[in-house]
Amino acid sequence: MLPAGSIIGILGGGQLGRMMAMAALQLGYRAIAYAPPGDNVAEDACADFFESGWSDREALAAFAAKCNVVTWEFENVPLAAVAAIPPALLACPARALEVAQDRLNEKSFIADLGGTSAPYARVESDDDFARALVSVGTPGILKTAREGYDGKGQWRIASAHEASGVGFPGRPCIYEGLVAFENEFSVILVRSTTGEVRFWDSTANHHEGGMLAQSVLPAGALIEAQVGQARELAAKTAQALGYVGVLTLEFFATAQGPVFNEMAPRVHNSGHWTIEGAATSQFENHIRAITGLPLGATASRFASIDMRNIVGDAALTAYEILSEPGEPHLHLYGKREAREGRKMGHVTRVGHALA
Ligand code: AMP
Repeated sequence: MLPAGSIIGILGGGQLGRMMAMAALQLGYRAIAYAPPGDNVAEDACADFFESGWSDREALAAFAAKCNVVTWEFENVPLAAVAAIPPALLACPARALEVAQDRLNEKSFIADLGGTSAPYARVESDDDFARALVSVGTPGILKTAREGYDGKGQWRIASAHEASGVGFPGRPCIYEGLVAFENEFSVILVRSTTGEVRFWDSTANHHEGGMLAQSVLPAGALIEAQVGQARELAAKTAQALGYVGVLTLEFFATAQGPVFNEMAPRVHNSGHWTIEGAATSQFENHIRAITGLPLGATASRFASIDMRNIVGDAALTAYEILSEPGEPHLHLYGKREAREGRKMGHVTRVGHALA
């Protein structure tokens, strides 16, 4: 168990790191973060901030020298940068990043554990793409294998004819069949250093333009019926990775059962509601897990919960939300520039308290 005052190092400087740092502060720890130059909003909540590239091994070593434990808030931290951190400081083995950074890797990893994904094929050339359109069929989605997020690096293909207008984008890709889903949901779990696993309730997640827009509880009968099977897969995944901290797996709820979409080896946007809506938030339990503190209860505190992202220009009028009835909980991430499609904050509304 790390003593109070210990320093938690966070790789990445975004809003997830900011909220993680806030949870660390609450528990009497201090947080420092490392990220390349940018609008690093985690910095506001950190005692120290290292702004340098992922290939700057000297800066990474200087950062690590100050930390008692190191975690990440961003799944695309290059493995070479993680390798510059002494392994004993890492809260969780880097294998989790290695698997999650590549959509092909994560799908085969999940298949080995008995999970189901959309039909897919590897695409590394025009010929591969043409073959994938036949073997997987249309409609489908071509995605870059690495570094896509929030619907970026994705092309929807309605028909083979349309595919000629897209073409192979010149980077390794995966072509997936379009899943006819009823709903989307995520399983968010926390795993301790001793292998104890706790789950939060699964929300129904609504996406707009490939990006999460809203997470809602109750999630509805179909999702509730499929959460058990999805949790089993998520727990097996965490165990196979020797995972410590919060891990998220995203699923499609289909008539044939849960279909795995992707994993995030970190706290997740679809878990922001846990700050007010659960006995212990995903951020606090992540900090508890990586410092060796006892995990907190994950039960939902309200009969209904609604979390919506505040995106782009909507942030400019976000304070108007505070005048709405029902005591909405507003979170703004302090980003300097409200670019279109950029997550600027979120608002959580809760219903009746559960006894
Ligand atoms: P991803 O970046 O893989 O999470 O994709 C973003 C969103 O696009 C998902 O949450 C879905 O709404 C949609 N999507 C991605 N892949 C598929 C698929 N194979 N079938 C149907 N919808 C998908």
